[in-house]
Amino acid sequence: MPGTLFIVTAPSGAGKTTLVRGLLDRDPQVQLSISYTTRAPRAGEQDGREYNFVDVPTFRALRDRGEFLEWAEVHGNYYATSKVWLKEQIQAGRDTLLEIDWQGAQQVRKAFPEAVGVFILPPSLEELEHRLRGRGTDSDEVISRRLLGARGEMRHVGEFDYVIINNELQLALDDLVAVVRAARLRYGNQHLRHPQYFAFLEQD
Ligand code: 5GP
Repeated sequence: MPGTLFIVTAPSGAGKTTLVRGLLDRDPQVQLSISYTTRAPRAGEQDGREYNFVDVPTFRALRDRGEFLEWAEVHGNYYATSKVWLKEQIQAGRDTLLEIDWQGAQQVRKAFPEAVGVFILPPSLEELEHRLRGRGTDSDEVISRRLLGARGEMRHVGEFDYVIINNELQLALDDLVAVVRAARLRYGNQHLRHPQYFAFLEQD
């Protein structure tokens, strides 16, 4: 397919959102897919920018109509990726990045086997706890639930093509930028992007 699909997964607090924002700044050719969620917006989040925020009945109705490529329940809320929109973007050659959990990643890989999977790990579980508390956006109960889940999520790291350990933000961002650039240079992508060049090489 003309566009490259990137799946970026990490336990909350690993720095995924900051890294993805940094990538979008450095590489305007990558766009972010905006998921649907039933969780409440955090301070500073806007409907249609970070997420499409919907209530549970609306989410279920969309899901039952087959609008979602994948959906998952994460920490007691529903999250989903829109199917039609994503297919259109990839067909149109737009590199698109999904920030989704490992369950969603498994489902997306079935529909897009050529998707590039990137897993972001925090430096350690201790550091992850420190970061989640420092964020100050979630209650103690939510943080404990997330920490419990984090270890289980991190066990899925082997299902991804690339692993970035976010010890130091700038280095991790360089790594992410490098992964995106490398993925664009894969044979299949270059072949699609430069059909005449390759047709010429393939002539007898
Ligand atoms: P948060 O509530 O912190 O924004 O996200 C919580 C988790 O939900 C993260 O692990 C994030 O990757 C995941 N998530 C966000 N959007 C989607 C989605 O569309 N599908 C799935 N499966 N997970 C998502």
